[in-house]
Parts: sequence; structure tokens; C-alpha cells
Amino acid sequence: MFSLLGCIVTTQQDRIMLKVAKNSVRYELSCHAEVAALMKVPPGTNMHRVKLLVVRKGMKMSKPCVRCQRVIEAFGVRRVYYSCDGTLERLNNPI
Ligand SMILES: [Zn+2]
Repeated sequence: MFSLLGCIVTTQQDRIMLKVAKNSVRYELSCHAEVAALMKVPPGTNMHRVKLLVVRKGMKMSKPCVRCQRVIEAFGVRRVYYSCDGTLERLNNPI
């Protein structure tokens, strides 16, 4: 399925890409890329040390929705970036 938005989870040093996911719809249920990527991160990963990058095609606004922000917070991710009008913005107050 064609997706306009994707999410990448990397280590803090950006050397290892842990998981990549995109928005998807299955059986009329949507799954946002942020949640899909976080669910695939290997168990035991120190989530305080990973970085989440959310990008929409064309670097357009991809700020995680409130529901995804709550999931991100529950996973303990502290560094979250999203595309916004051609640049990357940092999500304020993730935990
Ligand atoms: Zn979302």
C-alpha cells in the first residue's frame, strides 16, 4: 500500500537503524507509522537512548498525533523529530 508517512527508529548515535514502518490500513483499522515502528523494536532495547524520526513525503508536516504521542511517551522515547515544511522539528516535552 502506498504511504505518505514513515517512521524510523535509530540508536542515539544514528549508526543503527532499528526499525522502519509506514502508515497502513488493514481490515479497516489504521496503524500509524510511529506505533508500528515502536512495536517492532527488539525487546531489551533501551528506549531512552533511541531516536524516533517521523517524515512525510515532501518533508511536509508529520507531527505525531496525540494518540501516537501517548504511545511514544509510554515507550519512554525522549528524542522525537518530525518533518515540518522542509525541516525537522523536535517534539517538545516527550517525557
Ligand atoms: Zn498517530
